[in-house]
Amino acid sequence: MNNGENLYPLLQLERLRMETDGPGVTTLVAGAGCPLKCVYCLNKRILKEKTPEWVTPDELFRRTCIDDLYFQATGGGLCFGGGESLLHARFISAFREKCGDAWKLTAETSLHVPAVQLKTAIGAVDHYLVDIKTLDPDIYRKYTGADLDPVLHNLKLLAGAVLPERVTVRIPLIPSYNDEADRRRSEGLLAAMGFTTFDFFTYRIL
Ligand code: SF4
Repeated sequence: MNNGENLYPLLQLERLRMETDGPGVTTLVAGAGCPLKCVYCLNKRILKEKTPEWVTPDELFRRTCIDDLYFQATGGGLCFGGGESLLHARFISAFREKCGDAWKLTAETSLHVPAVQLKTAIGAVDHYLVDIKTLDPDIYRKYTGADLDPVLHNLKLLAGAVLPERVTVRIPLIPSYNDEADRRRSEGLLAAMGFTTFDFFTYRIL
């Protein structure tokens, strides 16, 4: 386990992804750990089948630099996802120092993290894919088991810290939990905060 070293709980690497995890060719770096308990979470199922492997920034760089030319030619890089990537903001920051500025680093996040984690990530991450679930506090609690307030706080923090084109907010239709009217309300609140790029999609229940 992590004895104070800056390690990342790696579940899997998926190379050569296009247009799903940020700009260009990306490698998805799926990690373990999340403060939420989403009803339809796939990550929980993956964790039942696999145990994470703890890697250092150097080790992750060694395993991903095989695609350096693709990243640089297409403006791609790594996407930290899986569970909650910003739980590992210190690792992502150390990885940025290792890989330099040429790779794009994307963080998939629910923003349900302590604000200090987001602040640590802000200097290191190029693009944010924010899976917001919903901005209705009651629906959010029913679906994730958690309070919406940290998310609202971090949305405001992010809106004030980075340009809106660096954030894509995913607004899902969550079967049996929200509806189109709820999504439009969430979109309106996000637009009022300054966000401009939204991805509407429907959760697939497997
Ligand atoms: S935020 Fe993602 S990883 Fe965390 S419980 Fe929800 S679906 Fe699973």
